[in-house]
Parts: sequence; structure tokens; C-alpha cells
Amino acid sequence: MFSRWRRSRITRRPFSEAWLHILETRVEAYARLNGDERALLRARVQVFLAEKTFVGCAGLDVTDEMRVVVAAQASRLELGRRPTFFPHCLTVYLYPGAFVSTVTDTLAGGVVDERRVVRVGESWRRGGVVLAWDETLAASLGHTPGRNVVLHEFAHQLDGWDGSVDGVPELRGQGALDRWQRGMQAAYLTLIHDLPRGQASIDAYAATSPAEFFAVTTELYFEDVDALRDRYPVVPELLEGYYGVEALGGRVRHLN
Ligand SMILES: [Zn+2]
Repeated sequence: MFSRWRRSRITRRPFSEAWLHILETRVEAYARLNGDERALLRARVQVFLAEKTFVGCAGLDVTDEMRVVVAAQASRLELGRRPTFFPHCLTVYLYPGAFVSTVTDTLAGGVVDERRVVRVGESWRRGGVVLAWDETLAASLGHTPGRNVVLHEFAHQLDGWDGSVDGVPELRGQGALDRWQRGMQAAYLTLIHDLPRGQASIDAYAATSPAEFFAVTTELYFEDVDALRDRYPVVPELLEGYYGVEALGGRVRHLN
């Protein structure tokens, strides 16, 4: 276990000039933060990089640019919260681009169905997160409005804090839990109603499950909140309460 003492020692080290240059040129959201928030993000990046192992897949050589971009994007999710540092994610696996993943479903009667699906990201309940570097970088540069695979996969990590990835992250108290479940469920049902009528303002993938709804709406909250505000206004309210930062990822509202 990494102790608080060890973490605070890590954050007292000087932040490398090379890493700073990467934040300034490869992480568009960094420019949206004020000085205190930038300092906080840099400290979180230091801890993240000290604690996570990066593995390049399909021949990819992992560089500092890749490590710092992933660490910064993941850390944006915890700028306004007491950080967990994503304890179930020990390893980040990076592919150059989209990768093929085998999905196993156990069907009725014990039949096991294996499918191969192409993905740009994957979050495991225990052990790690898998990312396509091309999508990761494009999102970090601000080239894919509303889409950010690192935010998506690390939202799944936060969701799974209690072992179940069900669209309900750690919330303080029964009142907060009730408000979350009522609000998110109502918005999820509105989306399911909207989709066949062509009225949905967000990606249909969010309707796959409450867990995907939380991950997709997290991406939008940090990158394109207007897509949520019209049809699903309760969602940005709940996400602001949970993440403790204003929409679009700036301004820390409060530190939980
Ligand atoms: Zn997902």
C-alpha cells in the first residue's frame, strides 16, 4: 500500500520540465485550470505515475508523453474529490490504436459465447485499464469534442470502487444515494425513450447499461456539457455534486 506519507513525499519532488511541457502542449484541459488547480493536477500526475505501471502492446513503445497524458486525463476526474488514485488499476495497457478484445458471455444453459469486438478502451474490475493511444491523444488535444476515452474508462474505475460496476460510484450518505439513483435512472429512461424517436442528444452507447450511462455522461460533463443540459439536466447537477468540479473540467467547486 502507498501511504499518505509516501504520496506527500512524491509530490514534494520538483515537477519535471519535460512533463510540464507535455501538460502545456498535449493536455488542452490544463490551460482551462487556474494556478492552484494546475498545481494540484501536477501533484496528482506525480502520484499516478509513481504508482501505475504502463505496458505498451502491439509493439508500442511507451513514452513520457503517453504516460503524462494518461495520468493527467485520469487525474482530472479527481481534482475536486478526495483522490482514490484508482486503486484497482495497477497497470495501464496502451495500444497504438483500436484493439480487438474477446468478450465472453455465459448464456442460458451454461453455453459460453465468445465474441471479438474492436475497442478503443476497456476497464477491468481488477488490475487495469486498456487504451488506444491515438484516441487518447486526439481527445487530450481537444480534437474529439464530447469524447474522451481516458475519462470514460477511469469513470468505470471510480464506479467499481465497491466491486460492482453499476453506475453508482461512492456517494456520501443515503440522501445522496437516493438522489443519484432517482435522477440517473430517470435520465437513463428518458434516453431510452428518446433514442427511437431521434431525440437523443447523446450517444446511444450510453443506453447500453447504467454503468455506460455514467461513463458516457462523465465524458460529456467534462468535455461537452451542453449535450446533457437540454434533455437530461439532472445529470450535470448530480455529476457536479459527485466530481466537485464545474462542467468542462475547470474550477474546483469544493474539496470533498
Ligand atoms: Zn464503457
